[in-house]
Amino acid sequence: MFSTDPGIQTTENCVFAVLLDMRKKTENILIGELKDIKRRLDGFSDVKLLYEKTRDLGRLIMDFTPIAEDLTNIRAVLLDSVTGSRSPYYDREIGNLERLYSSDNPIHRFTALLMWQEYQRYCLFGTKDSGALFDVFDDITLALRFNLIDNVKNWQEQNRKSPLAYLDNDFRKYPILLYYGSDKNASEYAVTDKSLLPIAVYYLKQVYGSGRYIQTCPACGNSFVAKTIGMTTFCSDKCRRVQGKESKRRFDERAREIPYERAYKNTYMYWYNKVKKCRDMDLPPYKMDKIETAFTTFSKESSKRKKAIRKDKDLASEYETWLLVQRDAIDDLLGKLKI
Ligand SMILES: [Zn+2]
Repeated sequence: MFSTDPGIQTTENCVFAVLLDMRKKTENILIGELKDIKRRLDGFSDVKLLYEKTRDLGRLIMDFTPIAEDLTNIRAVLLDSVTGSRSPYYDREIGNLERLYSSDNPIHRFTALLMWQEYQRYCLFGTKDSGALFDVFDDITLALRFNLIDNVKNWQEQNRKSPLAYLDNDFRKYPILLYYGSDKNASEYAVTDKSLLPIAVYYLKQVYGSGRYIQTCPACGNSFVAKTIGMTTFCSDKCRRVQGKESKRRFDERAREIPYERAYKNTYMYWYNKVKKCRDMDLPPYKMDKIETAFTTFSKESSKRKKAIRKDKDLASEYETWLLVQRDAIDDLLGKLKI
C-alpha cells in the first residue's frame, strides 16, 4: 500500500526508555526494540539500539517541542493511504516524517518511528477503516500537540510545593512500564511503547521529588534542573560567563550611544591609571590614603550625578563639564603630594 520506502527503521515493538540519575544530574535515553533494551539492561552492552544518549538532567522536557501542524499533515496522508486513496502530498509528508526521525530530538524521533511502525502494522493487518489507526496516532502524537514546557513553567510558578496538582486527565490516561537494570543500583528505567506523556509525568515527579525544578537557561535556551525557582539561573558556568560578557557588551553598546557615559569611562580610566601607578610605587601610607580617598569620593560623586541624570536629562552637560574638571583634580592632588 506504500510505494515510497522512507529511510525510517522498521520496528515491531519500539519503546522509549529513560533513566534519571539525580546524583550525577544526568538523563540516559534509549530508543529501540523492547527486547533489545531489556538485553541492554541485562548487561549486554553490545546490543545495538536505535538511539542512546546521556545528557544533562532536564534537557528532555525541552524536547517536547510542539509540532501539532506537522503531525496533523503527516497523519492525514498516512490515514488516506490506508483507505487506498493516496494523497498528492504523500511524498512531501513522508519526507517530513523522515526529517523528524533523523532529528537530534529523541521525542520527535520516537514519535516518527512509532507512527511509521503503527502505519505499517495497520497496512499489513488492518482493515480499510482507518478509525482504529486514527486513535493510535492520537495517542502517539498527543504529547507534541501542546506546549509542555510552558505548562510546566506555569505549574511551578502557581504552586511551588505541588506543581503536579495541575495534571489533567490526559496526563494520567496512559500507563508506564518500569524496568530495572542488572547493575548494582538496579537502575530504574521508565519505559513507554505509546504515549510519551507518562514519561513527562514520571520525569517531573522525580525532579520535584528531589527538591528541584525545571528551568530554562537564559543564555543557551536549554532546559535544566535547579534547586532554585523564580530567579535567573544558568545551566552552566560557561553560560553564566557568556551571559556576563553579553550583558557587558550590551552595556558598552548603550554607553557608546550616550556621550556622558563615554566621558565618564574616559575620566574613570584616567583616574584609575594614575591611582594604579601610585599603588605600585610603594608610597608613604598618608599619601596613598589621600589618593584612595580622593578616588572613592570621585566615584561616589560620579554615580550620584549619573543617578540624577536618569531623572533629569538636562543635568548631562553639567556632568560632562564636571568630569573634565575631575581630570585636573587628580593631577592637582598628585602635584600637591609631589608625586
Ligand atoms: Zn545554558
